[in-house]
Amino acid sequence: MYPLDQRQNWFSGQGRWSNVPASDWNDWHWQLRNRITKLEDLEKMMTLTPEERAGCLFAANKLALAITPHFFNLIDTSNPQCPIRRQVIPSIKESVVAPGEMSDPVGEEETMPVPGIVHRYPDRVLFLVTDRCAAYCRYCTRSRLVSNAQAYDFHPEFEEGIRYIETHPEVRDVLISGGDPLLLSDAKIDYLFGRLRAIPHVEFIRMGSRIPVFLPQRITPELAAIFRKHGPIWLSIHTNHPKEITQELSAALERLSLAGVPLGNQSVLLSGINDDPEVMKSLIHRLLMMRVRPYYLYACDLIEGSTHFRAPIQKGIDIIRSLRGHTTGYGIPQLVIDGPGGGGKIPINPDYIQAIHDGIIELRNFEDRTYIYPTGNRLPDPTPRIIE
Ligand SMILES: *Cc1c(COP(=O)(O)O)cnc(C)c1O
Ligand code: SF4
Repeated sequence: MYPLDQRQNWFSGQGRWSNVPASDWNDWHWQLRNRITKLEDLEKMMTLTPEERAGCLFAANKLALAITPHFFNLIDTSNPQCPIRRQVIPSIKESVVAPGEMSDPVGEEETMPVPGIVHRYPDRVLFLVTDRCAAYCRYCTRSRLVSNAQAYDFHPEFEEGIRYIETHPEVRDVLISGGDPLLLSDAKIDYLFGRLRAIPHVEFIRMGSRIPVFLPQRITPELAAIFRKHGPIWLSIHTNHPKEITQELSAALERLSLAGVPLGNQSVLLSGINDDPEVMKSLIHRLLMMRVRPYYLYACDLIEGSTHFRAPIQKGIDIIRSLRGHTTGYGIPQLVIDGPGGGGKIPINPDYIQAIHDGIIELRNFEDRTYIYPTGNRLPDPTPRIIE
């Protein structure tokens, strides 16, 4: 697989929109204005399966349909199982709610002291600053509020959120998310970073955004300069499949990285999309080439209508096992389950510990060989050897 991962093989260009002037194509406002948001638009571009067609009609009640031209170009319109297609084109399977699936699967509402602030962990908060995204992921954990299709009517109170952080000195880490915070204007982002940076106890500021992937045109030199001005600000992007790694994404991330932004990636383990060791290996290799450190691999949350996306957890464990030792350690994400109902992120690891007994720990290495190490500071030995 490796030769395919080389940068020259990554997608680039205007694809189906080659007749559009480059100045329009490269303008993020043009990309947003020309998003595919209606069934009619989509059907002009491709033939939908009956399930997708019904899914598009259902989407208005659940999570809106939106795909940027940049991301649409990555879809293989001749393959209903295309891993890009399945992430953004609705399916009527989203209307089937299985036992245990919830509208708020990770219990965010219960730990929201003020609208937009989720304070679950002792020293850090999640700060939701918008309910809109450049495109919508069909498995989104925050479908309840994102895109407002379910009339949640989220009005992020910036000021109330900032005041909460200002008056809670235990909050040293703020994760700005949404929705997608990079849909805010440069002026708003500059203001938000400035206000947070001015709070003495806030040591660490980070943002989660899928905009570099959906809308790399948004990462202008001006935006990178705002990150630089208030830096260090860390950024987690969200990619699931190597096809999402384009030369445009790479250029956008380079602008951020050179502005001093440390980059991470979060993926969701998705059935038939990336629940495969070779696919995941290719993805993480491409991420490393762009200075992105794979951070988390999430089991798909129990969001309503997500059964068709959920991969067996054992597949995730097997993927991690297939990576550790076999490729660059920097590339290996932590597999986590976000405890349903509000448990927070719980790490899931392959069993490298075979047993702990009689003063030894028995370990299994990446090649399945067994090694022994003392549990204390030396191996148990009834007759220690004395060097004379
Ligand atoms: C994921 C998350 C965080 C950040 O967790 P880290 O493990 O530090 O990345 C903070 N708050 C909430 C509510 C989260 O879901
Ligand atoms: S970009 Fe993030 S918040 Fe927006 S739809 Fe996708 S997963 Fe949800």
